Order: sequence, then C-alpha cells, then structure tokens
Amino acid sequence: MLGNLKPQAPDKILALMGEFRADPRQGKIDLGVGVYKDATGHTPIMRAVHAAEQRMLETETTKTYAGLSGEPEFQKAMGELILGDGLKSETTATLATVGGTGALRQALELARMANPDLRVFVSDPTWPNHVSIMNFMGLPVQTYRYFDAETRGVDFEGMKADLAAAKKGDMVLLHGCCHNPTGANLTLDQWAEIASILEKTGALPLIDLAYQGFGDGLEEDAAGTRLIASRIPEVLIAASCSKNFGIYRERTGCLLALCADAATRELAQGAMAFLNRQTYSFPPFHGAKIVSTVLTTPELRADWMAELEAVRSGMLRLREQLAGELRDLSGSDRFGFVAEHRGMFSRLGATPEQVKRIKEEFGIYMVGDSRINIAGLNDNTIPILARAIIEVGV
Ligand code: PMP
Repeated sequence: MLGNLKPQAPDKILALMGEFRADPRQGKIDLGVGVYKDATGHTPIMRAVHAAEQRMLETETTKTYAGLSGEPEFQKAMGELILGDGLKSETTATLATVGGTGALRQALELARMANPDLRVFVSDPTWPNHVSIMNFMGLPVQTYRYFDAETRGVDFEGMKADLAAAKKGDMVLLHGCCHNPTGANLTLDQWAEIASILEKTGALPLIDLAYQGFGDGLEEDAAGTRLIASRIPEVLIAASCSKNFGIYRERTGCLLALCADAATRELAQGAMAFLNRQTYSFPPFHGAKIVSTVLTTPELRADWMAELEAVRSGMLRLREQLAGELRDLSGSDRFGFVAEHRGMFSRLGATPEQVKRIKEEFGIYMVGDSRINIAGLNDNTIPILARAIIEVGV
C-alpha cells in the first residue's frame, strides 16, 4: 500500500540547509533557515531557560500526563505576555500546542469546525508553510497584496483593497510582527486601518505571532495584536515560543481564541481540547514548563528579558551595518529598507538568478526568494554579503 505514496517535494528551506552542509567551501555563509545565531554562528540556550530547566530537574517528581489544553500557569503567562492588560480571562480560550506550527494548524482546524466553507486570506508572500498546510487541509487560499517590490515596504493600498473583499466566515491571516519572509511590517496606524476593515467585513483574524521580542521590543511587537484584540470580538492568535525563548526543538506554542462572551469561550475551549486529543492527545510539557517558570519567576524573567533585548538590539545593529555598507558600495540609499525592516528576515528583492550567483560565486546561502536571515551575519561577513549583492547587480 505504501508504494502508492507520491514523492513529496522537499521543504525548500530545509533542502537549502542540506545543500549548505554539503558545501565544502571554508568561508560559506548560511543566511537560510530561520534560527537565531550569535556572532559565532551558535544558537545558544538562553540563560534563564537553562536555569528554569535546572530548577525543574531538581523539583519535578513525576512525568505523568498533565493538562490536555496545557497547564494553567502556562496559559495565563502566555496570555499576559501577548495581550498584557488587555487579557480577558473570562472570554479567552487557550490551548498549549506543538510549537507555533501546531497552534496554526489547530487554529485552522478550529475555524473549519465552525465554518466548513472556511476560506483563508494570506499575505503575498507569506511563510511558505502557511500555504502548504492550508493546501494539505484542502482549504481555499486567497492571497492579498503585501510586499511592494519597488520600495521593499508594505503595499498598504493593495493590502487594504484586497482585504476589503473578505467576507464574514473568511479568515485573514496576519503576521503579528517581524513579517516572514519580507521583514516589512505595518505601523500601528496601519493596524488600526486593518481593524476597521475587519470590523466592516466581519472576517476572522488569525494572528501569527512567532517573533515577539525580535522586532521593536516585547510590548511593541504585540501592539498590533493588542489593537486588533481590543476592537474585534473574535480573534485567534497562534504564538510560538521557539524564537523568543530559543527553545525550537522543545516545540512550544499556544493558540488563544478571544471570544465575544463566556459561553462562546466554553465552546471554543472544549473544541480546542478535542482537537489536541484527536491530533496528538497531550501537548508537549517540558518547553511550556520552561516558559511558565521563566515568566513567573521574577529574576528569571528579568534575565530572559535582558538576554532577549540583547539579541534584538544585536540584530538591529547588524541591519544598520549592512545598510551602511550597501550605502557606501552603491553610493545610494536604495538599500535603506534593510535598516527599516524588523525581525530576523529581510527580502532583498534579488532575482532567483542573482540568488543563485550569490550562492555559487560567493558561497552565501539565502532562500530562493532572496530572504536573508540577518542573524546569520556578523562583522566579518557583512562586507562579503554587501559586495556580493552589489556585484550581481541587485
Ligand atoms: N510562523 C512563522 C511566520 C514562522 O516563521 C514560524 C517558524 N519558522 C512559525 C510560525 C512556527 O514556529 P514553530 O517552530 O514554533 O512551529
């Protein structure tokens, strides 16, 4: 029977990782996969995460099953991290999931349970796995304009025009901050305009918050999400702890369903628990416990915030350095967008041919759509990348 399976196209980003590993060149540079790396190319365990694990090792006495929807401390701590004072516990359903991806998948399943004709609006471009999951689920996908290839900023007029076509019963997927793959983000004023469109259309927003703390700061990066939450009666939020806690392999995330009233919250919480039970039963515990320990222990929380801030400001410094180098080499400001973008990624706007040349001639690996991982750079590699970009004529 299994012989009937069709070969699957490998995930392009994961395939690029393999290609990089196989490249024997000494000075090769990996700007591919979306993992934070320090200046030495290492993805460290954050200090507070390590300390939380130490405490867990000393205090945990059992590995029996825990909550099907996650532990209450984790649910509360995540709700507060994301929504701040705006968290309304009586009307918020929360589900611990297998990473941010699990939260996205459960959000789509939940919305489809509520509306079998669900259609999802996604930005063009978006994280490729968004579309891949929706295609696999057989959900109709509609793209909305997002990236302005000329300015490398947001095509906000296009975005608004396309989102105005959404209807009640549709879902609109928005990146909460640090848009992947472009790095181009909405201003708070623009978020307010999006809220107005959602109010008018009645479409359900699903906010993918995978990089809180990687852009302008923990609070700032949640501001758009909080604004939507304050104005729209039903909102889904899929959050990942992979990046901001650096616990990628622990597979930690959560889905929040903000509901109009307590009775709907009850329904949503029940449906979400059911979805976990049908998919993988209990969600992973270890990473969620790390997160709740860090967030609820004042000294660990302070240290985590300080380390996250260092990661964030380090990436900003790399952005400014790269933009400066490109300004000097090109004699123009046309690469200023690199410093304007936020998060781990920037889409450079290079053609596939130019991306290929940069890989072959300079040993620099980026995703085919010219997305670079800023965290893959350091003081030594920035001039090499800048020279490559100019030399291939981006
Ligand atoms: N959304 C976006 C936009 C992402 O970039 C990622 C991670 N690459 C995720 C969700 C999922 O992250 P996780 O590893 O927690 O599943």
